Amino acid sequence: MTPPAPARDRLRVAIQKSGRLAEPARDLLAAAGLTWRESRDRLFCYGESLPVDLLLVRDDDIPGLITAGVCDLGVVGRNVMQEYELGRESAGHEPVLSEWRQLGWGRCRLDIAIPEDQEWTGPAQLAGLRVATTYPRLLERWLRDQQVEAQVVPLSGSVEIAPRLGQADVVCDLVSTGGTLRANQLKPVTTLLHSEAVIAGPAAGLEDSRGELAELLLGRMDGALRLKETRLLMLRAPRAGLPEVTALLPEGGEPTVLSVDGTDEVSLQVLCHSAVSWQRLEELKRAGASHLMVLPVEGMLV
Ligand code: ATP
Ligand code: ZN
Repeated sequence: MTPPAPARDRLRVAIQKSGRLAEPARDLLAAAGLTWRESRDRLFCYGESLPVDLLLVRDDDIPGLITAGVCDLGVVGRNVMQEYELGRESAGHEPVLSEWRQLGWGRCRLDIAIPEDQEWTGPAQLAGLRVATTYPRLLERWLRDQQVEAQVVPLSGSVEIAPRLGQADVVCDLVSTGGTLRANQLKPVTTLLHSEAVIAGPAAGLEDSRGELAELLLGRMDGALRLKETRLLMLRAPRAGLPEVTALLPEGGEPTVLSVDGTDEVSLQVLCHSAVSWQRLEELKRAGASHLMVLPVEGMLV
């Protein structure tokens, strides 16, 4: 199957083909009700349930594909999007992309990391040093802001071993747990950027029916993202103890209270918009609640 010529009545969304953002991006689109048929080369997915097609690409290509109008939206790390926009800026172009949504996953930091046995006294310490990175523009901007003159060593990957190979003195790299840095005897000392996965799209918005489609898709994604965190808490409590129990409920919607026939108890259910901790359940139990149950929510329409 070859991709159809850009039909402007179908929305095209670029996602990472493989890597950290690939699976969560597919999960999110599936949770928004999208189903698709994959081409044999696994580069293009034809949307079946909605006129929304997917393009599976390297994450670094996503901003350029949106700018060129090949794709309408993309799921990409803020780090990649900002590096791209800084590249355009340095070539004298206006910004074209904006974050249409922040997705809350794929979180990481762009950090400066130095050898473990060195002390960190501040950015000025980097003066005259070689800093290896795959994000040269973000690094250059930060060095400029800090008024530090260091030598940026752009690499296409494996930044963390650059100091050991003698290619650089320190690194500027993406960090989530810090495990990779530790394994290379490096430690993070300062943060240039907090990143997460975002929906990138044209800052100017989308024209024709693709605009409405994008709105529909994003609305469903918002619902799916909210639902992921949502739990239904159910419990029983003596009617007399209701105020005490209600005061302990996690923040969320209004509880629904039902009488339990033939008893002086009530049954209570409430939507919670974040996880309900064991500690909270124990507190509720001490306040008189029983039959406590926390359930995931599969779908919701209010
Ligand atoms: P591609 O082949 O698509 O170019 P890649 O090697 O650039 O893949 P990944 O390592 O899969 O990409 O990372 C994709 C994105 O995941 C990063 O740009 C970043 O936004 C995010 N991310 C989250 N945690 C980390 C981490 N610890 N290291 C690197 N990236 C991370
Ligand atoms: Zn990449």
